[in-house]
Amino acid sequence: MGAKEPNSLYDIVIIGSGPAGYTAGIYAARANLRTLIIAGVTPGGQLMLTGLVENFPGFPEGVQGPELMDNMRLQAENAGVEIIYDDAVDVDFNTYPRKIMTTDKTILARAVIIATGASAKWLGLESERRLIGRGVSSCATCDGPLFKGAKCAVVIGGGDTAMEYALFLTKIVEKVVVVHRRDMLRASKILQERALNNPKIEFVWNSIVEEVLGKDRVEGVRVRNKLTGEERVLPCNAVFVAIGHAPNTEFLKGKIHLDEAGYVKVYNGLETNVKGVFAAGDVHDKRYRQAVTAAGFGCMAAMEAIRFIEEGWPERLEKEYQTGRVEEAPSA
Ligand code: NAP
Repeated sequence: MGAKEPNSLYDIVIIGSGPAGYTAGIYAARANLRTLIIAGVTPGGQLMLTGLVENFPGFPEGVQGPELMDNMRLQAENAGVEIIYDDAVDVDFNTYPRKIMTTDKTILARAVIIATGASAKWLGLESERRLIGRGVSSCATCDGPLFKGAKCAVVIGGGDTAMEYALFLTKIVEKVVVVHRRDMLRASKILQERALNNPKIEFVWNSIVEEVLGKDRVEGVRVRNKLTGEERVLPCNAVFVAIGHAPNTEFLKGKIHLDEAGYVKVYNGLETNVKGVFAAGDVHDKRYRQAVTAAGFGCMAAMEAIRFIEEGWPERLEKEYQTGRVEEAPSA
């Protein structure tokens, strides 16, 4: 076993270092609990891929996403949180204290907060990757306002997120073009109707984006009609990719209740089906997905974890696991 031997017991271990994770850490450490954040090898979450954030309260001029995350990390460290920059690769929730395995450590936790977030799905084009932050974005709410007064923004996708982005962008740019791979939208009826009836939104059906054009900033997209094979260029200033998000829960499969899309299921507040394991932020919330709501969920999960410890659950669970009389988890 060697380096894999359990070597550290924490009161609260937080997996993930986006706004939910850092906020949970700040609250947990300020409650005088030994707190660890497993930040991942690429810490900071989705805001690290964002430019100016203008909707996080407290910054009248806005704040750069990476700067905001760096400040959250510093605040967590100042509160006394320990941070390791490694990925959680596995968990053992059939034992107490709970176990979290990173690439080279096993960490023991009285309470766990899962805050691994979600990652936007991308098309996977080289030109898309090159222009992320230079006109290509996965968040219209965050980055849309940077294109105030621009001639055209392209939105890719046909779901609720794509429609919300398109509607939001009509207030910012002159024209919005939605490029969708089918001739039917997946979005809810109400959002479909609003988008289809909005004169500033144009739809390009049955089409896929083959390339994002532009050297240092987005100048257009090259789209191909899947039915006719016809290709054309749509000039635009920004491209918002809205083809869905995937929660970062691969390492939790089979260990905890996940919904059909892989999001962590929560019961009674933010507790999962495993006692003392909580979830916060985009990893369980596919509805709001904002930095400020994730931070709020992080605060809530930490308060629940603190209460869990104060109410003496760790001692009860230790006894339960020793005697083999473990309370049943809620059914899915
Ligand atoms: P989604 O519902 O999974 O829709 C993704 C869209 O992207 C689909 O139209 C899909 O096309 C398209 N797509 C997927 N992969 C693609 C690819 N490689 N290339 C081109 N297009 C691709 O994702 P979402 O819109 O982000 O919504 C996620 C969840 O959050 C949903 O449950 C949604 O209802 C919810 N949500 C709700 C609200 C709200 O209630 N206001 C707002 C946002 C999100 P196909 O249709 O052909 O599959």
